[in-house]
Order: sequence, then structure tokens, then C-alpha cells
Amino acid sequence: MGRAFVYVILGGGVAAGYAALEFARRGGYSRGELCIISEEAVAPYERPALSKGYLLPEGPARLPGFHTCVGANDELLTTKWYKENGIELVLGTKVMAADIRRKTLLTATGETISYKNLIIATGARALKLEEFGISGSDASNICYLRNLDDADKLVKVMRSCSGGNAVVIGGGYIGMECAAALVTNKIKATMVFPENHCMAHLFTPKIAEYYENYYISKGVTFIKGTVLTSFEKDSTGKVTSVILKDGKHLPADMVVVGIGIRANTSLFEDQLLMDQGGIKVNGQMLTSDGSVYAVGDVAAFPIKLFDGVIRRLEHVDSARRTARHAVAAILEPSKPRDIDYLPFFYSRVFTLSWQFYGNNIGEVVHFGDFTTSNSPRFGAYWVDKSLIRGAFLEGGSREEYEAISNVVRRKVKVANIAELEKQGLMFAIQE
Ligand code: FAD
Ligand code: NDP
Repeated sequence: MGRAFVYVILGGGVAAGYAALEFARRGGYSRGELCIISEEAVAPYERPALSKGYLLPEGPARLPGFHTCVGANDELLTTKWYKENGIELVLGTKVMAADIRRKTLLTATGETISYKNLIIATGARALKLEEFGISGSDASNICYLRNLDDADKLVKVMRSCSGGNAVVIGGGYIGMECAAALVTNKIKATMVFPENHCMAHLFTPKIAEYYENYYISKGVTFIKGTVLTSFEKDSTGKVTSVILKDGKHLPADMVVVGIGIRANTSLFEDQLLMDQGGIKVNGQMLTSDGSVYAVGDVAAFPIKLFDGVIRRLEHVDSARRTARHAVAAILEPSKPRDIDYLPFFYSRVFTLSWQFYGNNIGEVVHFGDFTTSNSPRFGAYWVDKSLIRGAFLEGGSREEYEAISNVVRRKVKVANIAELEKQGLMFAIQE
């Protein structure tokens, strides 16, 4: 049993949706030549919604409202859109094996699907506590968050413990966004993580302090510099408390775990070159095989702005842009163009909203007012070898975010650090 396509997109997440949009805009394929194979049961959607709008207590976001590519003010790619555009959706179908030499994929249903060009968009999976030697994370009130099923479980568990206690494990993106959602849903949240402050890979201690104080004012408790070691459970197997390394017991009606991800590379590890925990690609998102591309969280690609350093980014803007770039490279092989990507991360919690561009290397120069909780506007530049390499801004307008992204993209020279500090945001606006 088998089917043959010219183009196969493996994975049905954010990158897959944007790749489909780019194919449809450019044309260059006929009905029945292009398919998306996804383990998920629904057409690609904007994953960021799962830790934001999806968790709102009132008027939460639900499909089809947040299918790709609504997040970038593009079209809404519903199942009907794929049909109309002649793109086959092979949903609820896990690919179990790939044979790069034969150009075939084997699905869990035993079907062999062949391709001429493959775009790998398999994204990532949430790391499990078991991978850190802690067992029992399959309990009915322990939640991870990567896909729609996880989000549905989280919503169900949240609804069952209104007024109760949640323990959030991890101080990264999932931990921060879920803790905000929990207190908004009237659940007391305690965040536990090993670092000295939240978002340790990106935030400076001063930036982190602002968000932590804001969270504390909303009722969140922080327990930093430690990890959990085990759970206490009742006779039904539900977690009742989380036990920390120092022996402390935290009462818990539910637990949310966000301790990082691993890229889904396993189908290809012995067939394609790997780097940074992902699949290594060149500036056209082409892997070490001439007919296979990789995009999104799974792809490790050269960042021109960082002098060609290979990075694997785990953010939605990168998924969208790398996907579109790969499709352009496939459909216009005569015009090879290397991706020139400016790394961009953002988050929205409570009424706060920040953006970051570039690389957080070098000396940090903070600016703005870090004291107000009412419409705050503050940020930081990262200056390396007298050049702006990264910029962060909380509470900016569209023009202000564009201004900070411009100074990073142009690596604007900084003649005087004290002057930069004095000018703050105006430095970017005036450039
Ligand atoms: P994914 O969107 O993860 O899609 C991968 C797809 O591949 C899935 O459909 C999966 O089922 C499928 N798949 C994997 N293996 C197989 C297989 N063997 N067979 C068939 N199908 C397979 N980033 C931001 O920049 N801002 C945000 O605010 C933000 N919020 C987020 C909130 C949450 C809850 C999560 C989980 C992530 C968030 N991210 C955010 C990160 C962003 O969503 C990811 O970077 C993005 O989804 C990556 O897109 P992708 O297509 O590479 O992978
Ligand atoms: P992150 O990598 O952001 O954060 C993981 C956090 O968990 C880190 O603070 C990490 O510490 C900590 N940690 C690791 N191991 C343990 C442990 N055993 N016990 C307690 N804490 C631990 O990953 P997330 O899980 O938060 O996010 C998953 C993915 O989703 C990421 O790719 C992220 O980019 C994406 N996402 C992005 C959002 C956005 O961009 N706004 C929003 C939501 C998700 P350490 O650093 O020391 O390992």
C-alpha cells in the first residue's frame, strides 16, 4: 500500500502551515502533488495560543479560530482552505520510519508515502521529568504543554481545582506563561526552578526581578535555586504534594511542568547531519541530502547576523520564516538565496508584553522605568565590541519595537555606553 507525492511536509505544526501558505501563494504544484503528514488530528494551528488565549477563563481561543496563519495577519488555513488549494492533509498519522535513500516514509498505519522533496517540520517534544530521574509524571493532575491534547487536559485540570494550589516546575517560557494563566484562573501558583531568577537564558537579573515582583503582586510565589525530587500521591494516584530537594513539601492540587524540549530528530539521526540538537541545514534550509529540507524547531541553520553561527531556534517567528524560505528555495532553485534571519522572541503575560531581537551577548545597558507596574516601558541593549547585538523592550509600540529591531539588524555602533544609557529607547528611535 502506498502513495506518491512530489512534495511532502512531515509534521503539521506552525512551520507546516506557513510552508503550505507559501506553496499556495507561489503555485508551482498541482492538486495531489503536495501533502502534509501530521500526528495531530487537526490542521496546523498557531501553537503559541495554547499557553495564552486557550487558557483564558472567559472567551478562550478555540479552533478553528487560531489555525495558521492567523497569527501573522495572513489567511486562516482551515481544513477547507487546504482542500480548496489542492493540498492533502494526512492527519492523525505518525511517521514511524524514514528512508532518505529510497525517499520514502512509513506511517503507523503501514502505508509507504514517497516524495521527490521532503520538508521536515517535526518540531519538538516536551521533556519529561522521567528524563531527569523523577517518576510519576503520568498522574492525572500533572500537565505538560506542547499540543492541543495537552492544552485540553490543562484546561480540564484547572477547572477542577479552582481556588486550589498549583506547583509550576520550570522558570522558562511555559512556566512563566502558565503561572500567569493559573492565577488568572484563580489558582494559587508556586513556581519552582533551579536558577537564581526566571527566564535565565534571556533575562538579566534586573529584568527578571521586575517580572518576578509583578508576578508576586498577582499572587505567584517563587522558590528558586532548587528542584523537585518526588511526588506524594493519594490512593487514586493523584498528586497531593511536591517534594523538593531540601525536603520541603508543597501542597498541590495540580502540577504544570515546563522543563524544556528536545527536537524531534529521531527518524533522521543516522541519515542526515545533525547540529545543536537538530537537523543541520544550509542557508536555504537544505539538509545534508539534496532533496530534504528542515524547518522550524527541528532545524539548525546559519544566522548571517551572527557571522554564520549555527543556531536552532525554538520560536514561532523562526518557524514561519524558515518554512517560507525553504519553499522559496524549492520552487526557485535558479535563484538560491541564503536566509538572513534576525532572531526574534516575545511573550505576553497578564497585561505585560515584551519583545527581544538578536543575541544576548556582551555588556548589558538597561533603560527606562523598572519601578511602575502600570503600563511599564523599559528595556536593555546588549553591546558587544561596541556594537548593538541584542535589544529587549517591555511595553513598546509597533514603531518602538521596529526601532530596536533595526539597531540590532544594523549592528549600530555605540561610541559611548554612558550616553547610550542616558538616551535609552531614544537611541534606537533616532537611529
Ligand atoms: P511544531 O509546531 O511543534 O509542529 C511539529 C509537528 O510535527 C506537530 O504537528 C507534530 O505532531 C508533528 N510530528 C512530529 N513528529 C511526527 C511524526 N513522526 N509523524 C507525524 N507528525 C509528526 N514561540 C514564540 O515565539 N512565541 C510564543 O508565544 C510561543 N508560545 C508557545 C506556547 C506553547 C504552549 C508552545 C508549546 C510553544 C510556543 N512557542 C512560542 C514556540 C513555537 O510554538 C514553536 O517554535 C513552533 O511551534 C515550532 O513550529 P514547528 O512547526 O517547527 O513545530
Ligand atoms: P525553556 O527552555 O524556556 O525553560 C525550561 C526551564 O525549566 C528552564 O528554566 C530550565 O532550567 C528549567 N528546568 C530544566 N530542568 C528542570 C528540572 N529538572 N526541574 C525544574 N526546572 C528545570 O522551556 P519551556 O519548557 O518553558 O518551553 C518549551 C518550549 O516552548 C520552548 O521551545 C519555548 O521556546 C517554547 N515556548 C515559547 C514561548 C514564547 O516564546 N513566548 C511560550 C511558551 C513556550 P535550566 O535552564 O537550568 O535548564
